[in-house]
Amino acid sequence: AEAATPTAWPSRLADLGPAFFTHLQPTPLPQAHWVAHSPAVARSLGLDPDWLASEEALQVLIGNALLPGMKPLASVYSGHQFGVWAGQLGDGRAILLGETPAGHELQLKGSGRTPYSRGGDGRAVLRSSIREFLCSEAMHGLGIPTSRALSVIGSPAPVRRETIETAAVVARSAPSFIRFGHFEHFAARNDLVSLRQLADQVMDQHFPACRTHPRWPGQPYAALLEAVSERTAHLLAQWQAVGFCHGVMNTDNMSILGLTLDYGPFQFLDGFDPGHVCNHSDTQGRYAHNKQPNIAYWNLFCLAQALLPLIGEEDTAVAALESYKTVYPAAFEACLRAKLGWHQGAQGDTELIETLLQMLARHRVDYTIFWRRLSHAVASGDFEPVRDLILDRAAFDDWRQRYLARAQAPDAALMLRSNPKFVLRNHLGEQAIRKAQNQDFSEVQTLLKLLERPFEEHPGFEAYADFPPDWASSIEISCSS
Ligand code: AMP
Ligand code: MG
Ligand code: MG
Repeated sequence: AEAATPTAWPSRLADLGPAFFTHLQPTPLPQAHWVAHSPAVARSLGLDPDWLASEEALQVLIGNALLPGMKPLASVYSGHQFGVWAGQLGDGRAILLGETPAGHELQLKGSGRTPYSRGGDGRAVLRSSIREFLCSEAMHGLGIPTSRALSVIGSPAPVRRETIETAAVVARSAPSFIRFGHFEHFAARNDLVSLRQLADQVMDQHFPACRTHPRWPGQPYAALLEAVSERTAHLLAQWQAVGFCHGVMNTDNMSILGLTLDYGPFQFLDGFDPGHVCNHSDTQGRYAHNKQPNIAYWNLFCLAQALLPLIGEEDTAVAALESYKTVYPAAFEACLRAKLGWHQGAQGDTELIETLLQMLARHRVDYTIFWRRLSHAVASGDFEPVRDLILDRAAFDDWRQRYLARAQAPDAALMLRSNPKFVLRNHLGEQAIRKAQNQDFSEVQTLLKLLERPFEEHPGFEAYADFPPDWASSIEISCSS
């Protein structure tokens, strides 16, 4: 029997009118073949996981066919890139198919040119598509807000980057792909009618409490700005705590819902290097790991400027942004407390956390392995494996003694569910990509299985939780590919 697929694929963005998008068709690709798909994501979207195994799904999710009711579109946005106003950008290689039964937008990334492609070819290569697919699901497994990835489908069609690679399309979903840059776009054109329409729709759909917020009577747009600031603060706290570097925190890559969006040259830290820059083309280090929280605030400031015509008073907008400065540090400390096994805060926590992070930085200790070994040490009472990671044994012993002397003892179970065993290190992705480039997709499957449940032990897969090999540090990843 044929699996049922939805016949209505509405788009709230399309409802707003032609200023927001262009209808268009994806550009077909030859000889589509599956690379990976996620039945779990299909289920979360209200799609039949059996359909995902069908030839029809293969053709639809690479952009060669449409289901009845789909009216694909590309949306227009603008943004600041690397601190500079870039003017109009838009979905240059992403095409929205519509909303799934669960109300999530479904996009194809890499499905051909759009009116917003500028000089680009509208394509994505297999390498970057596998990275986006795996990292989306890894972030979700870590409990970090993110767009999801339904599938990666490859084609032998050549795509020119630094060398000739092959094309792939990721089908990805989110409750909304609206970016800070969508608001900046209409503000920059002084199109206040569209700006208000967009803000109203986002508020009604995703932030309904802003209409009646007790702290913001009669100021729903200030309440919206504050709500977005707080979501962004929580997102950044989670990124920093897990050691994630996004790599391209331009305002057009910032989700209005506080989701991790647009996976490019991202990286999970190996050794703890707070100033690490993962984007090979970020020569100024603007998006270094330890700069991310301030950059997020800078981006929120751009959003505030865009919303200013709706908010009215500049002081009000500044006040709405203010919460970021308290929510971010509080959220970061809460994440670190959980990693340390503490259910509640206590005097001296900030100092213990600071001392620890400085120690990890000084010795470039492997970030993920340190936290996992510390969790096991608390569980077993044997601290030698974690002590071995730190060259300055005396400094570690001193810290450990103060850590264990704290009034409330650490809870090992909390630590084991707060400190992942598996993260998508660059070299793991790279190994899966190399095999996939030779038509062997088994490593993508293995990583998906581990990263979907990164806090579980997965006996037999120890190698995936080990230190990176020497060659890992020579992997160079730049912006859009
Ligand atoms: P990014 O920083 O990778 O999210 O992309 C910035 C802008 O460039 C967005 O408007 C993208 O849609 C666009 N873009 C990136 N790569 C391509 C490409 N290969 N073809 C067309 N547009 C692209
Ligand atoms: Mg982008
Ligand atoms: Mg470095």
